[in-house]
Amino acid sequence: MNLDLLSGDTPTRNAAVSVFRAKAALRAALEQPRRDGQTIGLVPTMGYLHEGHLSLLRAARAECDLVVMSLFVNPTQFAPGEDLDRYPRDEERDLWLAGDAGADFVYAPAVAEVYPDDFSTAVEVGGPLTEVFDGDPARRGPGHFRGVTTVVAKLFNVVGPDVAYFGQKDAQQAAVIRRMVRDLDFPVRIEVLPIVREADGLAMSSRNAYLDPRDRERAAALSRALGAVERTIREAGSLQAGLDAGRRELAGAGIEPEYLEARDAERLEPVTELGGRPVLVAVAAQVGAARLIDNVLIHT
Ligand code: AMP
Repeated sequence: MNLDLLSGDTPTRNAAVSVFRAKAALRAALEQPRRDGQTIGLVPTMGYLHEGHLSLLRAARAECDLVVMSLFVNPTQFAPGEDLDRYPRDEERDLWLAGDAGADFVYAPAVAEVYPDDFSTAVEVGGPLTEVFDGDPARRGPGHFRGVTTVVAKLFNVVGPDVAYFGQKDAQQAAVIRRMVRDLDFPVRIEVLPIVREADGLAMSSRNAYLDPRDRERAAALSRALGAVERTIREAGSLQAGLDAGRRELAGAGIEPEYLEARDAERLEPVTELGGRPVLVAVAAQVGAARLIDNVLIHT
């Protein structure tokens, strides 16, 4: 367990967390606190924690009486041929870091606890929200988001959180979850927190572990490209000029994006004019062994 990898800070908090493998046990442990009127915050993760995850845990700690983190690499959100089998995992380190950042309980179920053999239900948000960007069938496809909404709905049902915390890093995922919560009347408030970045701008991601040193350096071009898009839109007042500037920045690092697109931040519909609702500019690209995503929200 190499804790130096994450932060130079000396841990100060008692890092005792209770780990639950079974949903029944977690539910039972949450019963009394809920009856006592304690507020419950949930931070869903796939583990291999970094400062992005920890920022969500710290926010939950500051706002809620009881903080639950889920730690589950959800197989249904990976398409065949994606990186499910090699997704990085280090549970011992994650438990320690989660406790240090303020988690009280960690729910770390086995796959069979979440998906019994005859599991046959899905929660699906339809329409453009899940069909564009990563949801485009030529990319990860809508099945990715079906996997996400199904597991998040299950987590909400097991934990019954008052607040659930997500990162703007996965902007489309956050928009899809907000829509699911609204459409299905889940009694939970969704908080979406800013992207935490490395010193050179690279958005933190568990998948950054796949990058070799040369690709790690090239990967910073994604955030530089988004910076160029935003700057150019502000200076030139043109979306197209902005996207062109972003593509040039990527090309300079030898990166051909899967997409670099601007859409309405809430509905993910095409942007027809600047000066209206917030615009989400999102990028996805394969850089060496890692498929990376990043985005910027522009209030035009
Ligand atoms: P993951 O473990 O990658 O599924 O991420 C769990 C949660 O952490 C999701 O809500 C992500 O959006 C969020 N997250 C991941 N990376 C970052 C980051 N760099 N900054 C902020 N939040 C993040």
